[in-house]
Amino acid sequence: MKTGMEYKDSLRSLNTQVYAFGKLVDDLVDNPLFQPHVNSAALTYELAHDPVAEDLVTATSHLTGKKINRFTHIHQNTEDLIKKVKMLRMIAQRTGSCFQRCVGFDAINATYSVTYEMDQELGTDYHQRFVEYLKHVQENDIMVAGAMTDVKGDRGLRPSQQKDPDMYVRVVEKNDKGIIINGAKAHMTGIVNSHDMLIMPTAAMKEEDKGYALACAVPVDAPGVIHIFGRQTNDDRKYGEIDQGNATYGIVGGEALTVLENVFVPWEQVFMCGEWQFAGLLVERFASYHRQNYGGCKGGVADVIIGATATIADYNGVTQASHIRDKITEMIHLTETLFSGSLACSSEGRKTPSGACFVDPLLANTVKQNVTRFIYEISRISHDIAGGILATLPSEQDLKDEKIGKYVKKYLKGVEGVPTEDRIRILRLLENMTGGTALAESMHGAGSPQAQRVMILRQGNLEHKKQLAKDLAKVSKKG
Ligand code: SF4
Ligand code: FE
Repeated sequence: MKTGMEYKDSLRSLNTQVYAFGKLVDDLVDNPLFQPHVNSAALTYELAHDPVAEDLVTATSHLTGKKINRFTHIHQNTEDLIKKVKMLRMIAQRTGSCFQRCVGFDAINATYSVTYEMDQELGTDYHQRFVEYLKHVQENDIMVAGAMTDVKGDRGLRPSQQKDPDMYVRVVEKNDKGIIINGAKAHMTGIVNSHDMLIMPTAAMKEEDKGYALACAVPVDAPGVIHIFGRQTNDDRKYGEIDQGNATYGIVGGEALTVLENVFVPWEQVFMCGEWQFAGLLVERFASYHRQNYGGCKGGVADVIIGATATIADYNGVTQASHIRDKITEMIHLTETLFSGSLACSSEGRKTPSGACFVDPLLANTVKQNVTRFIYEISRISHDIAGGILATLPSEQDLKDEKIGKYVKKYLKGVEGVPTEDRIRILRLLENMTGGTALAESMHGAGSPQAQRVMILRQGNLEHKKQLAKDLAKVSKKG
């Protein structure tokens, strides 16, 4: 298992092509724009060596019997699923931010079970290939980026109906050594500081779309791969310190648009190529695993927001006001509701034919749907308690200015005994964690709300519910 430092060094040895602000980045690990994201992901490595955290952050490989980082593990039972959720909350409490590595974790688990079922039904041999790849991931403690979301072009058209055929990642050539692929993947969390990406289809496919039914692993620095880093709210603050709020770990995961320009993938790393019948299952498995996470990681993030809110109430001298206590109670209640949902979908997990354990998809989608609302409500309450100063604070430079800094310190003070700078630091943390990019991540990360609603209705067994009502009301079966 790599340490945090070994992970960072391993990134330095890659030749990843990342563009940001129109320039090719040549110092990713040490560049302030990327450093918080790298630090956050590095913690998933570092904590595997921490005696307090290792029970959650490590596991025993079912393939080799060796101790591995849990982010490379295939869930063997519901205990593994529960430990995953607890691990995510524990890490998020330390980072206050997205640590990115769960996307690949979910991608390997989804691909593992789906390749098994696909081979059983279609007589293909993808699963064994995937197992070999997985051994490499576990052995080398690889950070895998889950690459699902295609850019999609006209959302009203299927992949094969698009005017530009590259709107969904597709196979453009097959030969005896492998395949050549083209297209782009959007919103790729953590990809610029990963080692590999695991490409999956973005939606269920029909037979005419089979050139798009594709799953494969590609190094993030493979020839033809270019990453264009996304802007985030306040990203120019990354060149200062206090105004970032969370300078060490950032606010959300770094995302990129990843372009695949005629990228060669050897057959050993291809896990679906044309089997359109299984594209939908892979999407559903991946999405449910990722939606399981959100009561864990966002629960941990919310713990930090609650802590910052309660601290600012202390600094403002309002902690004892009954409405403040009631509002903080509400924030805790919402957070624990999210966490309960993640634990519930894990406890109700079931073994798939491959032996890997899968979450209850209805409950997992319900958790994520709640996150799209509760994190906004938690943030709204935090703004209510913090006051308007959250939006009008002078900059770090003004605080430190020789001439005017004394005014900032004098007039922005709260209760006696708390330095103004501390009050500003907490407000900045709160401001950054509860606005812009951070909120949008809770809305759209792991899929937009409507994607969950589609799954909730499909999994909700409405006919059964209707029958319950009809039986009690004694209406005829046909009625
Ligand atoms: Fe992991 Fe949460 Fe980030 Fe998704 S949003 S990658 S689950 S930390
Ligand atoms: Fe996410």
